[in-house]
Amino acid sequence: MNAASKSARRTAIVTGSTSGIGLGIAEALAASGCNVVLNSFTDRDEDHAMADELGARHGIEARYLGADMSDPAACRGLVEATAEAFGSVDILVNNAGIQHVAPVEEFPVDKWNAILAINLSASFHTIAAAVPHMKRAGKGRIVNIASAHGLRASPFKSAYVAAKHGIVGLTKTVALELAEEKITCNAICPGYVLTPLVEAQIPDQMKVHRMDRETVVREVMLERQPTREFVTVEEIGGLVVFLCTDHAAQITGTALPVDGGWTAQ
Ligand code: NAD
Repeated sequence: MNAASKSARRTAIVTGSTSGIGLGIAEALAASGCNVVLNSFTDRDEDHAMADELGARHGIEARYLGADMSDPAACRGLVEATAEAFGSVDILVNNAGIQHVAPVEEFPVDKWNAILAINLSASFHTIAAAVPHMKRAGKGRIVNIASAHGLRASPFKSAYVAAKHGIVGLTKTVALELAEEKITCNAICPGYVLTPLVEAQIPDQMKVHRMDRETVVREVMLERQPTREFVTVEEIGGLVVFLCTDHAAQITGTALPVDGGWTAQ
């Protein structure tokens, strides 16, 4: 790739992108011609190899940058390291997230703190670091991966629902602050997507609801998803790519459900 074609590409950061939805979004952005920064907190050889393979497959530059999204300095450092390596931060996708399921009175304090830090505060820090770069460029796209749980509640998910409602509020506020800067900020609110995060919830849900796996998937997880189908990572990736086009210039401050009709109820 020559220097001209490299600099013409937009650069996208996707936090928490070595797995699940984040990896699907990174794939979709790479396929649309963006350079991509993959991130997680692990910093293993295989994470760097994943970025090399993604870049080679799509003919773009992909790099893995390890950063723990529970650490404010690391969140801001990820943005600065990207700007330094690529010269710009054009697209920021805040996707890293964790989950824990327990009744509120038994909810472990360390889990509450970690969920609020990773699922909500990390986005504040990355946005705060990215906005000056986007303002200097005169354009930008911020996409926050919230959840149907940013719009609706479920029992036993106090921290997750609080954080996801919080990210929807942050999205609206940032959109208003940047409305005249040609920088949009939107939240995507997926219903259930079968990723490692959801797989990991199934045993807890089985315990809490005293059901077997098949019953908990059908009766609890997809019970509120009228299509009775899991959302796919490709469907989320496709929406992120669209929000990053010029056609989406007037879409800002929204919380877009991709949930098989869940929040229509
Ligand atoms: P996942 O567990 O498959 O992937 C999460 C990613 O985040 C991984 O790459 C992991 O390494 C990374 N991560 C976790 N902790 C991190 C940290 N401290 N620092 C940096 N990276 C970290 O999860 P997923 O299902 O793909 O979820 C991705 C996002 O989508 C989350 O914000 C989640 O809340 C949201 N979401 C998921 C679903 C679903 O059904 N899977 C539905 C709605 C919203």
